Amino acid sequence: MLVQRTCGWCTTTAADVSLSNCRNCGGPLPPVPVSMGGVRTLTLGLAPPPAPRSIPEPYRNRVLIWKNVLVILGGIFTLCLGWTIVFGLIGAPMLYLGWTRAQGKLRALALGRSAPGRVIEVDRDYTVKINNRRPWKIAYAYEVEGARHEGWVHAWERPDLAPDDPVWVVWGPDDPKVSCLWPPVV
Ligand SMILES: [Zn+2]
Repeated sequence: MLVQRTCGWCTTTAADVSLSNCRNCGGPLPPVPVSMGGVRTLTLGLAPPPAPRSIPEPYRNRVLIWKNVLVILGGIFTLCLGWTIVFGLIGAPMLYLGWTRAQGKLRALALGRSAPGRVIEVDRDYTVKINNRRPWKIAYAYEVEGARHEGWVHAWERPDLAPDDPVWVVWGPDDPKVSCLWPPVV
């Protein structure tokens, strides 16, 4: 089976399946699923290191702006409509929501605690289309002190994840509902 992993931190492709860290940026890579006799298994990778974790600057900018669906759409509204009432009603809330959501994910990656979780669903997000591309939406569940939480992330490259796959989730530090997959996807 041909496995092509992309580093979620720097978007470099890692062809060598034995690598646990990216050759380019040193960031941890997601584990590779193994297929034996047609049965696909994915084991939980290494736990995230304890907080605070350093987040590379290019990754930060990508999460906040260049891969942030709501910020891109909000930005398009601003460019097309300027500071009109439509922008105020639609564009501004989109920008605000996209920006705070991304900030929360970055805080969880840098300062959050970790918990093992499970993938619930991996599907195209048909509600969004940017540059003729639709992102993938990965929904996952995790538990914090006995309470079940759900989260989701967008990925622009098809992730090698399937429902029920084990994943690491980083959450918090202010709110257990704010979370991100570890390592992040592109
Ligand atoms: Zn990398």
